[in-house]
Amino acid sequence: MPSVDLSIDIGIDLGTSAVKIFTPGRGVVLFEPSVVSIDKDTDGIISIGTKAYRMIGKTSDRIAAVYPLHGGVISDCELTEALLTEFVKKVCGTRVIMPRVVACVPNGVTEVERRAVVEALRAAGARKVCLIDEVVAAALGAGIDISLPYGSMVCDIGGGTTDIGVISLNGLSASDSLKVAGNTFDEAIIKKIRKSYDLLIGPRTAEQIKKEIGCAFPRDRVMRGFVRGRDARSGLPRQVEITSDEIMDALEEPCVYICRAVQGVLERTPPELVSDLYERGMMLTGGGAMLYGLDKLLSRKTRLNVLLAHDPQYCVVRGTGEALDYIDPRSEVEFAVSPLEVYSF
Ligand code: ADP
Ligand code: MG
Repeated sequence: MPSVDLSIDIGIDLGTSAVKIFTPGRGVVLFEPSVVSIDKDTDGIISIGTKAYRMIGKTSDRIAAVYPLHGGVISDCELTEALLTEFVKKVCGTRVIMPRVVACVPNGVTEVERRAVVEALRAAGARKVCLIDEVVAAALGAGIDISLPYGSMVCDIGGGTTDIGVISLNGLSASDSLKVAGNTFDEAIIKKIRKSYDLLIGPRTAEQIKKEIGCAFPRDRVMRGFVRGRDARSGLPRQVEITSDEIMDALEEPCVYICRAVQGVLERTPPELVSDLYERGMMLTGGGAMLYGLDKLLSRKTRLNVLLAHDPQYCVVRGTGEALDYIDPRSEVEFAVSPLEVYSF
C-alpha cells in the first residue's frame, strides 16, 4: 500500500521583503513578497503575496499595499496571520496533521515580539513552533559548521534589517542588528533622483535600478540606464539617463552604516575569535548582499576576506530547514544553538 504523507515539517524565513518556506526533500517551495493589499474603505484583504506585490504603485487610492513585517518583526498581527495562513496552506495543502515549524527571529527582538511570531504561526496552523536566531540560520544555510570551536562571521543584509553575528560553538559571541538594508538603498535612490533630476519614482523602479546598475564599489565599466518617472514640477512623465556612478554616490551613506556596524561587532568580538575571522573571512547572505561590489567595499573597510554565499537570499530559509533535523525527537543529534525555543500547542 502506498504510504500517505500525513504531515510535513517546514522551515520559514519571515523576511521583511519576502517570506520563504523550505520543506525537507523539496528545498525552497515558496518565495513570495511579504505584502498584503487591502481595501482602505472596508479594511478587507484583496490579495496576498506575489499578486499583492504586482499591485504596488499601480492601484487606486482605495487600495493600499501593506508590508506587515517591519525590520524583522511583526508590525500588524492580523495581516501577518492572514499572510502566513495563506502561505502555509499553499505548502501543506490538505494534509491531516499540521506542520511543525522552525522560524527565525532577528537578534535582539523582545519577548513580546517573539511571542507575536509564535502566535501568528499558531494561527496559521503550526502544531509546534521552534524559534532560531536569524544569523545562526543564515550561517547554517550558508554551509558553515557552527559547532566548531572557531569564530565564523555572518552578515545578513535583507530588505529591512542587516543582522551581523560572530558564531562559535553553536552560540553567538557578538552581534548587532540595524535597520539599514535593501529598502534603505531603494529610498536613497529615490531621494537622489528627485534631488538631481526633479523626477519622482516609486520603490519598485528604484529597486530595479539598484539591481541593474547599482553598486557599492566602482564597476569596471560605468553602466548607464534609463529611468522613467513623473516630473516633480509639471507632473508629466519624463525619462532621464543615469549612470552607475551616480547610484554608487547615492548608496554611499547606507553602505558606510553597514561597514561601521560590522567594524563595531569586530570590536566587541573576543580577540581569539577575531584572529579566526582574519583566517576564515566573513560570509555575506541575504538579498541585499547581492548589491554589486558590497563584498569588495566591506573587505576594504574591515580588511577581512568577504565571501558572498551561494544563493544568498535562500540562506536563512535553508538554515531553518536544516534546524528541523535537530528538533526531530527521533534524531540523535542535539541541537545546542541557544536560544532555540520550542512552543507546543
Ligand atoms: P528579507 O529577508 O528582509 O525578506 P531578502 O534577504 O529576501 O530580505 O532580500 C531582499 C532585498 O534584497 C531587497 O531589498 C531586494 O531589493 C534586494 N535584492 C535582491 N536582489 C538583489 C540584487 N541583485 N542586487 C541588489 N539587491 C538585491
Ligand atoms: Mg532575511
